[in-house]
Amino acid sequence: MEAEQRDEDRTADDATVLLRTVDLVKDYPLGGGWLDRLRGQEPPKLRALGGVSLTVRTGETLGVVGETGSGKSTLGRLILRLEKPTSGDVEFAGESILEASHARSRSLRQQIQIILQDPYSTLNPYQTVGSSIAEVLAVYELCPREERRDEAARLLSLVGLPVDLIDAKPRQLSGGGLQRVSVARALAVRPKLIIADEPVSALDVSVQAQVLNLFSSVGQELGLTYVFITHDLAVVRRISNRVAVMYLGEVVEEAATSKIFGEPLHPYTEALLKAAPDIRAHAATRTGAAARGEMPNPISPPTGCPFHPRCPHAMDVCRVEAPRLRPVGEGRVVSCHLHPGSSDSSAAHGGVDRAAS
Ligand code: SF4
Repeated sequence: MEAEQRDEDRTADDATVLLRTVDLVKDYPLGGGWLDRLRGQEPPKLRALGGVSLTVRTGETLGVVGETGSGKSTLGRLILRLEKPTSGDVEFAGESILEASHARSRSLRQQIQIILQDPYSTLNPYQTVGSSIAEVLAVYELCPREERRDEAARLLSLVGLPVDLIDAKPRQLSGGGLQRVSVARALAVRPKLIIADEPVSALDVSVQAQVLNLFSSVGQELGLTYVFITHDLAVVRRISNRVAVMYLGEVVEEAATSKIFGEPLHPYTEALLKAAPDIRAHAATRTGAAARGEMPNPISPPTGCPFHPRCPHAMDVCRVEAPRLRPVGEGRVVSCHLHPGSSDSSAAHGGVDRAAS
């Protein structure tokens, strides 16, 4: 009955869902010696993603936040098909991108673009800004050769750069300017979804604000959908409609941005907020405690709740039983024994009962 209910919710939601990850798992085998193979033993593995199910609706910005090693960048690479998942699926506009034909893959590559932390690494240092944008237009045959320079100029203008930079080389631009060129290149192919992986982390704070404003303004103007991957809570709060908090390869809390920052439920979310000076200043009444110690080794994760060795609220049950990601009302899901959940449908919010899946 639960499965039927989830199917009904899923159908009702499909019209607005652009991206869905379904129980995505990514393991990296760690070799294993010949003796292990001879004995038929499984090689050790690093589990980078432990079953991530998320839903992103058209026009929204989902912030994915967590420490280094939380699996957030792996998630981005799987969505972009830069790597294959060990199991699970990624659906774009209702279609599995893992099973897409060669021709369909090309179309999907056009519709899903990525913006990375270091724009310089994605630009040819010997090519002018205009040429690098025109090159993308040519690859996807989006406009005739004679119109490409005008289109490149239009895109530079759209991202707030002077059109006379069209003949500049990347080294002549600032970090913020380069990131704007990256955005222009991504927009050139008229994408529907942009995966932005730490896109402002390398920029000065004042430039960060300008580039984030650019993401917001072009997103609204062009009806874009973003998955914004970052370790920076201030960035997430500024840009996202919803936030998924990841820890050791799993989503531990997902909610509207105002709920995550105003009323965090998972102790890890509380700890992240506590550790962020900018955020702490806006949350003077917060009672959450900082997390103890470091992220555990993902090759041998803790039993029970993966956060229990660092959690100030850990109970006996936390050491032996992994909590499930459960709906707790108001469109949010949490994976913690402190929050046993409500009767909402988890599927409606992209949540998954991991134990049941
Ligand atoms: Fe802490 Fe237990 Fe909740 Fe894990 S399940 S976050 S250890 S209280």
